[in-house]
Amino acid sequence: MKKQTRRRFLYGALPVTLGATFGFTELSASGKSTGAPPDKKPKVLVVGAHPDDPETICGGTMALFSNLEYEVVSAYLTRGEAGIEGKSYDESASIRTAEAQAACNILKVRAEFLGQIDGNCEITKVRYAEMIDFLKKEEPDIIFTHWPIDTHRDHRICSMLVYDAWLRLGRKASLYYCEAMSGMQSQNFKPDTYVDITKVIEQKHKACYAHASQQIEETYPDHHGKMEVFRGMENGCPYAEAFVKHAGNQIIEQKDLIHS
Ligand SMILES: [Zn+2]
Repeated sequence: MKKQTRRRFLYGALPVTLGATFGFTELSASGKSTGAPPDKKPKVLVVGAHPDDPETICGGTMALFSNLEYEVVSAYLTRGEAGIEGKSYDESASIRTAEAQAACNILKVRAEFLGQIDGNCEITKVRYAEMIDFLKKEEPDIIFTHWPIDTHRDHRICSMLVYDAWLRLGRKASLYYCEAMSGMQSQNFKPDTYVDITKVIEQKHKACYAHASQQIEETYPDHHGKMEVFRGMENGCPYAEAFVKHAGNQIIEQKDLIHS
């Protein structure tokens, strides 16, 4: 009998492909099908409240998609205007926009900024309409956003704006919620979907550390780092990201869904 190494013993689960996890036909970077017949590559949209949110809550999964040459968009509700002590809103926004752009270059994804203000995000008819227009323009197949019960108001607002737009557009995309330091920020988060990010962990960390103004290298190991390891333990791999899928993402007529 073949001797079981410690690594095999700890992480013996079979790798699950992105396609199997998210329910689409997976294509290799060369465009060739990895088994099933070729299909349209899904477009992935991640919407976070602040620069560094998409990268920290979903950066590994973004890297896996983009490394397979899937189109990935990293959208930021704000430019982190309130995020650097001693700097004006304009100065902070300029520094943090550049950091987000650098992170997106590392992940090979496109950055979009949605025009709200850090710490002062609004949930109004106008903001609902803006998010609907944005999702209409992007037409994603898979959407990731904040878990709606985060301690940060901006995260909650971001999540509700995305959820509302997803509903109004007929639940066409698969919608997943991401965790941010569960137990500290995300409350009552019980994942149902795991992605093994072990092979892109360095790429993810490099993208997160591009947010130098947040001294993220100092806090990362104790915050997001622990979460990646813990989800990896649950998933049978060294590092994982975990999500909650919004059930019932089949396309439903708008009139049956909207009650407002
Ligand atoms: Zn945030």
